[in-house]
Amino acid sequence: MPKLEVLAKSTMLKQGITLLNSLDPATHALLKETKLEQRLQSSAKAIRIQWPITNFRTIDAYKKRMKVEELRKWSQQTKGRGVTLFTDDRHGNAWLYNPSLLKPSRFLMALRLRGGMTSDKVTMNKVAPQTNVLCRKCKTCNETLAHVLGQCIYTKAQRIRRHDEIRDAVSKKMAAMKEGVKIIEESLVPTPTGNLKPDLVVVNQGRVHVVDITVRHEDTGRLQEQSYEVYSTFTIVGTTTEGRKRKCPTD
Ligand SMILES: [Zn+2]
Repeated sequence: MPKLEVLAKSTMLKQGITLLNSLDPATHALLKETKLEQRLQSSAKAIRIQWPITNFRTIDAYKKRMKVEELRKWSQQTKGRGVTLFTDDRHGNAWLYNPSLLKPSRFLMALRLRGGMTSDKVTMNKVAPQTNVLCRKCKTCNETLAHVLGQCIYTKAQRIRRHDEIRDAVSKKMAAMKEGVKIIEESLVPTPTGNLKPDLVVVNQGRVHVVDITVRHEDTGRLQEQSYEVYSTFTIVGTTTEGRKRKCPTD
């Protein structure tokens, strides 16, 4: 709703000013009669824009300010915990820019997931107190969205399938690249503490890239956490792989 309000005010101001600049005497007489200029002036004052407005960029700057403010407020709510991670992320938000990328039912589900409006016990508990918030399947961790999607032993098979599908899609895409990329699947990287098994090792233009795919719940800190885990696992010689074994996260 705040977005609509901002849009309505900005459009009204822009159209009103365009009308005021009209050279037609009949239009001017009408505008004078209906006191359009005074109304526009008070609207501009209400949103703290100096009158007269000589450049539409002033109105665009107001829209931008309001957008930043709305995002800030949204990010402070439980439902908006992932806002800071996805602001202006063209890749992460690709399905929002182009909803036809997903089937309608999946698009709606994705919106619920992104908005933290799912039926896991921890979320439900915020609305109606639950007897307990332990996972209905494994009963060992709190039933959060992150647990169901990323840790629960009962969803492991689906998780592996999802991981492999993404790995295969990435591999296929890279194999089709013009530069002649060399892809090594299921390679072993020996380290003093044991062998590491990255999903893909890609050799491109004399550089070696390690690609390790993990799907993480889109939530505060977990994306950076994953990035750090992979980085520390593959770049710091002598590190252990213990960091990759996860315990029940706190909510
Ligand atoms: Zn579970």
